[in-house]
Parts: sequence; C-alpha cells; structure tokens
Amino acid sequence: MTGIAPGGWLGLLGGGQLGRMFCHAAQSLGYKVVVLDPVAGGPAASVAERHIAADYLDAKGLAELASSALAATTEFENVPAAALDFLANTVRVAPAAASVAIAQDRISEKTFLRGHGFGVAPFAVLRTDADFATLPGDLFPGIVKSARLGYDGKGQVTVTNSGEARAAWRALGHAPCVLEQRVALACEISVVVARDARGTLATWPAAENRHRDGILDVSIAPARVSETLASAAREIATGVVGALGYCGVLCVELFVTRDGALLVNEIAPRPHNSGHYTIDACVTSQFEQQVRVLAGLPLGDTRQHTPAVMVNLLGDVWFANPAATVPREPDWNAVLRHPAAKLHLYGKAQPRRARKMGHVTCLGATLDDALATARAIRRDLGITGTV
Ligand code: ATP
Ligand code: MG
Repeated sequence: MTGIAPGGWLGLLGGGQLGRMFCHAAQSLGYKVVVLDPVAGGPAASVAERHIAADYLDAKGLAELASSALAATTEFENVPAAALDFLANTVRVAPAAASVAIAQDRISEKTFLRGHGFGVAPFAVLRTDADFATLPGDLFPGIVKSARLGYDGKGQVTVTNSGEARAAWRALGHAPCVLEQRVALACEISVVVARDARGTLATWPAAENRHRDGILDVSIAPARVSETLASAAREIATGVVGALGYCGVLCVELFVTRDGALLVNEIAPRPHNSGHYTIDACVTSQFEQQVRVLAGLPLGDTRQHTPAVMVNLLGDVWFANPAATVPREPDWNAVLRHPAAKLHLYGKAQPRRARKMGHVTCLGATLDDALATARAIRRDLGITGTV
C-alpha cells in the first residue's frame, strides 16, 4: 500500500475534541484536514483547514469530503456506518464501517466479544416483553443499558429485579437494550491499541480509570496493576483488533473484578479519553498514530517516557459552586503554576455541567509526583472527590 505523503489532505467525520486533537497531530506532520461536522465552530472545525457543514448522511457533503481528501477517518463513534461505506467507494477509510458498526451497538459488540472468547459481564438482550420472562436471576443487581447511542453513562439504569428492568426498558422508549450484571470491581483499566493495514500492532500501557457519575474523571498511567494483569490486558486489546481485522486506533475498556479477572466493558473504534495521556507522556500519541495508520505510514513508538495522571476538566469547573447558574472562566493559574502540568482546552464556547471542556495531564518523575500535582490542581479548581 502506498502511503499518503505529508502535505496531502486527510478527511475526518465528526468535530469534537477527539477530532481537534487528530487535527493537531495531522497538522504537526504537515497534513491538511477537512472536517465534516453538522455543527459550525466546533472543536475540530475551528482548527481544521477546511470545514464542510453537512449532516453525516448528506450525499453532497460526503462527496465533497471524498473529492478533497485522500483518506478519511472518524472521531465520532456514532457516525452512520453508511457514511463510511459511501466514502470507501472512492477513498481509503479507516476504520472500516463494519468494525464501527459492531462497536456502535452493545448487543452486537457483546455478542462479538463473547463469540471470540473474550470475557464480558454476564448479560441478556432486551428487545421484547417476552425477554423479561427468562431473565436469569444472577443478572441482578444489574444495569439496563440502551444498545445504541449511550455515552458518559447516559441511557443506563440500575435495577434489582425483572420488574424494574422492564420499567427501565420502557423508560428508555422500548429501544433494544442489554441487561448487564453489576460486577464487583477492583478497578477499571483501558488499553489503546493501533493496528495498521498490514496487521502490525502497537499498544500503549494500560491506564487506570476513575469515573464519577458515569463520566471518566481521572486516568492514571501506567495503571497500578500487576505486570501480569497489564500484559493480559494488552493481549486482549491486540486480540480484539485482530478478531475485527481492524485498521486504526481503538480503545478497549476493561473491568478488573474483585477476584482478579479481566472483563471487556466496551470497545471504542477511535482514540479515547483515557488515552489522552499519550500526547504528553508517550513517544507517539494515540492521535499521531491515528494519522499514521490513515496515511499508511509506519506505526510510531508507543513507549511511555513519563508517569502521568490525566484529569478531565468538565464544565462544572466553570461554575464557582454547585448553586451557581452563570459560568465564569476558571483561574488557569491553578494549572499553569505547575511546570509539569499540560493544559488542553477544547475551545468549546458553552461550558455546561458534565460537558468535557478540556483536560490536564500531570507529568512527574514518579507516579506519586504526578498524583500530587493532580490533587493540588483539582483542589484549586474546586474539583471534589479523591484521587
Ligand atoms: P463511555 O462511552 O463514556 O465510556 P458509556 O455510557 O458507554 O460510557 P459504560 O462504559 O457502559 O458507559 O459505563 C460507564 C461506567 O459505569 C463504567 O466505566 C463503570 O464504571 C460503570 N459500569 C458500567 N457497567 C458496569 C457493570 N456491569 N458493572 C459495574 N460497573 C459498571
Ligand atoms: Mg465506557
């Protein structure tokens, strides 16, 4: 396969912060990026060389993207598979629509993973009233999750019996759902992996993830788990991309159960929030790797050179207290006074509570140093919860 040389145009579907960081990495390598995003002035569109404001299924917009770029990728998990298929008629597309389609639907995702021998939490599929008659009791307490379009814990309801599960399913509009056993967790980790068109693999060190209200709060890298567990997690990640015949960057979110087992929670067919630490702490970031795979360049070194703690900055930081209704700009000196803290803001105009507005990666000579910086920054920005 011939590569696309720096200077060429790359296409991107979706315009959020993952796309913005893809643009930065592509531009640093000398590429130009054309973004297709229905919204104007979004995080990616505002830094890309060109923005096509069109719906993901708009034939004219897609044709324009295909005629101006040599290859296309996505930063948005829920981009319709049909859009990727359409583009694949004329340009190189990575990841392929078929891979993205599996990850877009929890039913197909879990069925695929289980079918290929990867451990997942016990689950049942909820599609019709009849499905509630046969629910195994060991799924409770459990979580009803809508099969499609969930993110940051949205579309999820905790239930303790079949009646509650049915009520949750109804409340989610009778849409197809999964009921998943609530697993007793020791911790959560994730592995970002890249696979190129020749099947070459590269994984980054596992990150240890803390969530708050279903949203990623902090990622600690490398994860504080045994070497055996960390390499087992990396093997699962390479196994998953191998089974998918995947081309691109993908994240595998894993549960470490109290009895030490690894279960795949979900897969994201794109760079991931828990991999943001790779920008500042690794030789090659997840975004540069996405560019490299898309352009057909050799993969970059994924080695981590510095311990890192990534702190998400949600819109809440823009509000002085929980009762405040009017946002104000945070005092960034709280971050900038730490020489090894790297501030990343996504350029979103409207700070809203629970909205991902940016992140800070705290570097340190040791993980404890990085954690100490993260704690100081969180305290000064008014972020509650211990790390
Ligand atoms: P995102 O796309 O932001 O990762 P999501 O909406 O897809 O989130 P999940 O990853 O399914 O949601 O769940 C969010 C978090 O809720 C998990 O990271 C975990 O902390 C918790 N959680 C989800 N499912 C389970 C489960 N079966 N057992 C225990 N905890 C769970
Ligand atoms: Mg998740």
